[in-house]
Amino acid sequence: MKKKGILVVISGFSGVGKGTLMKELTTRYADTYALSVSATTRSPREGEENGKDYFFLSREAFERRIRGGELLEYAEYCGNYYGTPRHYVEGQLEAGKDVLLEIEIQGARQIRKNEPDAFLVFIMPPDAETLLKRLRGRGTESEEVIGQRMKQAVYEAQGIEEYDCILVNDDLEASTEELHRMIQLKKNETCRNLAQIEITRQEITKAAQEFGSGK
Ligand code: ADP
Ligand code: 5GP
Repeated sequence: MKKKGILVVISGFSGVGKGTLMKELTTRYADTYALSVSATTRSPREGEENGKDYFFLSREAFERRIRGGELLEYAEYCGNYYGTPRHYVEGQLEAGKDVLLEIEIQGARQIRKNEPDAFLVFIMPPDAETLLKRLRGRGTESEEVIGQRMKQAVYEAQGIEEYDCILVNDDLEASTEELHRMIQLKKNETCRNLAQIEITRQEITKAAQEFGSGK
């Protein structure tokens, strides 16, 4: 029996290591996970590719997709639109992949509301100093933008309890394995596997009857 995948939301402060963790997880477990590529109106960072890191769109093109119902969720973050294309996510879930959405908190709230089976994880830094060090160390944002993102982090910190679990991204290797375990445990919850449980129950009952009748 083909099992549908689980929808996983990954949020966390800018610079905490979400992108790095996603890359590590999808490389290690390429057959298990599909990472959704978001659409955004922000400019590409050096090295970012259209269609791989993001679909880079104009505001007009983005708003057309909103109107067309093509986005599973979307939000404005630090002056730019970000959103999840619906079609890819739904196809991958049907194909049995566990789909990872690396999105901020307003989008996570929309997923919580519209997709009640989704699993929401908030990635935490070991401490604030490490967060700032990582954000600066990445070297992709000006001090002004880093300031905006730290302010945004204060807002996001108010909503952490809305997530199902937290994960502290200290050692990358350990955090990747922990995240994988968390997701797979969640996927094995009895309430998500009622069809499979019923099939096994019927098979066992039949086998026990046959055993009893000496077949
Ligand atoms: P985010 O996607 O959350 O904004 P990134 O994945 O871009 O963050 O990571 C920010 C910086 O922190 C990058 O330079 C990355 O190499 C580094 N980083 C990520 N995870 C770790 C970790 N566990 N330990 C040390 N550095 C990390
Ligand atoms: P960045 O500009 O650093 O790539 O992303 C900024 C923030 O937008 C991050 O918190 C990231 O998780 C979030 N983000 C990326 N894609 C999406 C998306 O499709 N929807 C929402 N709501 N947030 C997103």
